[in-house]
Amino acid sequence: MANIIIPQVEAKEKSLKKYFTGKPCKHGHLSERNTSNGICEQCSIINTASWNKRNKQKVREIKRTYRINNVEKIKIWDARCYQKNKLTRNEAAKKWAANNKDKIRIIKKRWSDNNSDYRLNWTKRNPNASREQARNWRKNNPERSYEISKRWKAKNIEIVRYNTRKHRAKRAGTPGIHSISDLKEILRLQNNKCAYCRIKFTKLIIPTLDHVIAISKGGTNDRNNLQFLCRSCNCKKWSTDPIEYAQRIGLLI
Ligand SMILES: [Zn+2]
Ligand SMILES: [Zn+2]
Repeated sequence: MANIIIPQVEAKEKSLKKYFTGKPCKHGHLSERNTSNGICEQCSIINTASWNKRNKQKVREIKRTYRINNVEKIKIWDARCYQKNKLTRNEAAKKWAANNKDKIRIIKKRWSDNNSDYRLNWTKRNPNASREQARNWRKNNPERSYEISKRWKAKNIEIVRYNTRKHRAKRAGTPGIHSISDLKEILRLQNNKCAYCRIKFTKLIIPTLDHVIAISKGGTNDRNNLQFLCRSCNCKKWSTDPIEYAQRIGLLI
């Protein structure tokens, strides 16, 4: 149609929206013109853009009014547009995500910091899914997972030892149970000193947990069968009967 020359008058008679002169407009555009006002299509696009730029507030208002008055129309249009661009948008989103991993990490972290209750409750409500998610994360991030776990273990050596003992005791079917706070309490009652040689525990002389009556001799994992010894005393005592050992080191006659 763009190439067929139709004068404005003829276009008006035929009630066409556009007409074509075959000559460029005063700005040099060779395009169709609007029948109603004779303005070239290109010029019209440029004029609209520049008017919009000068009247941002007004444009916003016009758009808002239009949205309010055409809710159903927009819904249909949105749905159509959404379906049409679904694949492209998914691809674009994936590409953006791949190129902005750090940004996404920050956004996610900020969100979970601001919604810690939600996150906590979600974990409680979905224990299996949460475990599964953690497992997957560890599988996909073996190096980071190893680093984090190493750092945590170094900071919580007491808990690690406690858990190891608990697992071992459970597997061996040892009777009795104690908590981490029990261990702290025992250490406090011993004034942070070895129960036998009374040497003070330090970073170098670390407390080692001893069963007063060895498990192999029928001792339990209960709090009242536990004491802390220095490594040296613990090695010497090993599984000796406590009374026999006390006699041997001269604590009992
Ligand atoms: Zn023009
Ligand atoms: Zn000792």
